[in-house]
Amino acid sequence: MSYKADIAENLERIRDRIRSATERIGRDTQEVKLVAVTKSVEPSRIKEAISYGVKICGENRVQEAKEKIEEIGHSVSWHLVGHLQGNKVKYIFDLFDLIHSVDTLPLAREISKSAQKRGRTIDILIQINLSGEGSKHGVKGEKTLDLIKEISLLQNISIRGLMTIPPLSEDPEDSRIYYRELMDKKREIEREVIEGVVMKEISMGMSSDFEVAIEEGATLVRVGTAIFGERQNKIKIKD
Ligand SMILES: *Cc1c(COP(=O)(O)O)cnc(C)c1O
Repeated sequence: MSYKADIAENLERIRDRIRSATERIGRDTQEVKLVAVTKSVEPSRIKEAISYGVKICGENRVQEAKEKIEEIGHSVSWHLVGHLQGNKVKYIFDLFDLIHSVDTLPLAREISKSAQKRGRTIDILIQINLSGEGSKHGVKGEKTLDLIKEISLLQNISIRGLMTIPPLSEDPEDSRIYYRELMDKKREIEREVIEGVVMKEISMGMSSDFEVAIEEGATLVRVGTAIFGERQNKIKIKD
């Protein structure tokens, strides 16, 4: 599938598709937020997207995000959707409102420590790897509950939901089992009633499969290519 470079038109089409997907299964359209994934997109085009109503931008590298956010500012909300390295944790507090990709206890500890030092609290999602492939990051499904219980005990870090990246596939329907599985995990965690943990946000769905993700329960869809066109330097789904 190829995409046009007309950002306004692409956004309009995506919003229509989001609306249709929610209507199909009787969800409130307001429950689904579009995260415009702006990795490798130059600031002028990001600003264009913002002028057409984008409210949340997603970046996958801290350094790249830092440069862009310094230029574009915080009139939009910025999310980190890619993998976070421990040595970059110190930057996240001034950059991001939500980290989608926390997947280990050491990383969570680092974030917690850094947050306490700054007197800040940061919202995170737990990234789960449900396929054992597709993405090398993410906690394994069966280890998720233990990880969440441990992170819930840390100070100044707040678990708001879950994120997953399914294996790359041509057929959006191939993602459905993973998205169902993520929703099963969400319900399992809710049943545990862990203090300080809420399962408010479910980050799943990308350009190729966001409608399937919405049908299954996504609240945050992370869409890059379908808004901005094919990425120039072909950065793969790096997380
Ligand atoms: C790049 C990226 C996306 C967006 O992918 P598209 O196929 O361009 O929509 C979503 N999530 C993550 C984690 C990414 O790195």
